[in-house]
Amino acid sequence: MRTQKSLRTLRYHTSHHPISHPKQKNAAPGFRIRGILAKLTSQLPYPILSYFQDLLRLIFPRECPACKRELTRQEGEVCLTCLTDIQESEFHLCPTENELYLRFAGRIPLEGAAALFFFDKKGKFQAIMQEMKYHNQPRIGSFLGDYYGAKLQGTDFVSEVERIIPVPLHPSKMQKRGYNQSMAICEGLSRALNLPADDTLLLRTRRTDTQTRKDKDDRWANVEGGFESPRPANYHLLMVDDIITTGATLAAGIQALYANPQPPKSVRILCLGMARKE
Ligand SMILES: [Zn+2]
Repeated sequence: MRTQKSLRTLRYHTSHHPISHPKQKNAAPGFRIRGILAKLTSQLPYPILSYFQDLLRLIFPRECPACKRELTRQEGEVCLTCLTDIQESEFHLCPTENELYLRFAGRIPLEGAAALFFFDKKGKFQAIMQEMKYHNQPRIGSFLGDYYGAKLQGTDFVSEVERIIPVPLHPSKMQKRGYNQSMAICEGLSRALNLPADDTLLLRTRRTDTQTRKDKDDRWANVEGGFESPRPANYHLLMVDDIITTGATLAAGIQALYANPQPPKSVRILCLGMARKE
């Protein structure tokens, strides 16, 4: 059950961020129509809204992006079976003593690191991320952000956080995709934790070259300088990415934040999936 306050927060963010106006060019027609109808009917009084939602579900059944089974009314964007099948990291319970945190230790100042799932190539999580990023479904990111946010409520990991910020996309990529998937996750977290999400504190200034064939150290160097922090950033920040592999992009973003004349009071990082060492 949402409080009135968190609903207001959500409305503020969805009306000010591009995620509420995703380009629908890659979406399936059914998804597109369902999205438009859902938006048009979202302000209706509850009994009528509920009726419309049932009708929409009947015409355009929602399916789980991982197992393709039809989702029930009680389920979010991923079915409960798949959510429990994917191994969780529980890193938020030991934010400075986990392998994600250690990946950054000594390179950048970091207060803690958390990941919802372990990233398993060809696994269910991979299927969910593919659907979110390449089939225009930011609502999956928002749902998983909300899902993780509910687990983080009341934990030390988020107790002093003041702003939730996404790893920014380069403007050209943003234009192509229509939304930033990390901001979608931030919006879900924002809803669950009742904290503001803000995508204006860190911006991408130039596109980095393809990084697939470079080794790890080159990759860390390659992304340096690709970010700017144009506004005062003196908050306790939680920085959010969808998947962390080497962490080079995230590290470069955090370096830009600390180069700000009004740097963060602290930075924690959070991702949905973390790739394990091969
Ligand atoms: Zn499923």
